[in-house]
Amino acid sequence: MYRHVEFYAGDPILSLVEVYNRDTRAEKVNLGIGIYFDSEGKMPVLESVGRVEHDLATSPRPCPYLPMEGLAAYRSAVQNLLFGASHPALTEGRIATIQTLGGSGALKVGADFLHRWFPEAKAYVSDPTWDNHKGIFEGAGFEVGTYPYYDPATVGVKFDEMTAFFDSLPENSVLILHPCCHNPTGVDLSPEQWDTVLEIIRKRKLIPFMDIAYQGFGGDLDSDAYAIRKAAEMGLPLFVSNSFSKNLSLYGERVGGLSAVCPSKEEADIVFGQFKFTVRRIYSSPAAHGAYVAAEVMNTPELFALWQSEVYAMRDRIRAMRQGLYDVLAAKVPGRNFDYFIKQRGMFSYTGLTVEQVHRLRDEFAVYLLDSGRMCVAGLNPANIEYVANAFAEVLK
Ligand code: PMP
Repeated sequence: MYRHVEFYAGDPILSLVEVYNRDTRAEKVNLGIGIYFDSEGKMPVLESVGRVEHDLATSPRPCPYLPMEGLAAYRSAVQNLLFGASHPALTEGRIATIQTLGGSGALKVGADFLHRWFPEAKAYVSDPTWDNHKGIFEGAGFEVGTYPYYDPATVGVKFDEMTAFFDSLPENSVLILHPCCHNPTGVDLSPEQWDTVLEIIRKRKLIPFMDIAYQGFGGDLDSDAYAIRKAAEMGLPLFVSNSFSKNLSLYGERVGGLSAVCPSKEEADIVFGQFKFTVRRIYSSPAAHGAYVAAEVMNTPELFALWQSEVYAMRDRIRAMRQGLYDVLAAKVPGRNFDYFIKQRGMFSYTGLTVEQVHRLRDEFAVYLLDSGRMCVAGLNPANIEYVANAFAEVLK
């Protein structure tokens, strides 16, 4: 019956977690999966989130379906966070925002919408990118290409190649962009570089689709949204997918959002309707609990301030781990420049390790990274950083 069905080999990142779980060595360290762990190696429960959870638990309430577009208080919180509460596109009602099943759900609904209404358009992801970008856009029917991005020679961006590529694309090409904390490299564009890229997008009439999954982990909540706000200000036909999985530590609640900035309120209403239609045909309506929690945190000034300080504490812990790794490596592997560990932003780092070195780390030291050399810096903590840094130094010698 199912002999013709293709075998699914599994997701490489999730498969690596299974191998890690089976590893019996006590010193093992998981730097493969993209999850923020605290200084004790645990997934945090944010205090801001915990307070809301406590209130909800002590006053149980019915759980009706949410509308297709999600909870209104949540949707406006998403808009304020992404665009800033007084952004003209927001006050003029030109942004269509729906609640989605995580950032992944936002990418899926956005991709379905774009492929349906711009069937000739191709989509382009950065080389490299989060693997599922390609999967989701191909799943929506897009032909997906890559644009030049990471430069291993400089551990920076191939900026000239990237802009020349964008400048050669046909109208309505969809560009999936990382506004901050690029996954997997940790290498971001500067505001000046964004200005140049956005100008090309405007000139060539391309469609920017900004996927923000780590807001607050790079600079701060506002500066991480620089590219989003600038694109909206320039009147570009911007799509934004956002995720609270990491910065609210609410992975399993699947809290995300999809926003489209439109030229007029009338067009925003039309797009909003199509987003609802798309949702209706996939899963009808999103889940309620995580959205209540997120909306409460975002919309209560005291909780928002607490949350902001918690996000910045996560950011600062990641930065401290980058510095710690740098210090050991700079001392132990002379003659090699490790500045990039400090310059990269967000949870991830392209370490520059070769696949052979990554395998040695796994086999000899039980330190798990992706074969690409991507490390999740948030898997480092005071108890394991010395061990990991020494293991890196050993394989780099
Ligand atoms: N985009 C990027 C760049 C990501 O790193 C992730 C999460 N790994 C997502 C989207 C998906 O977010 P979510 O887990 O909320 O679906």
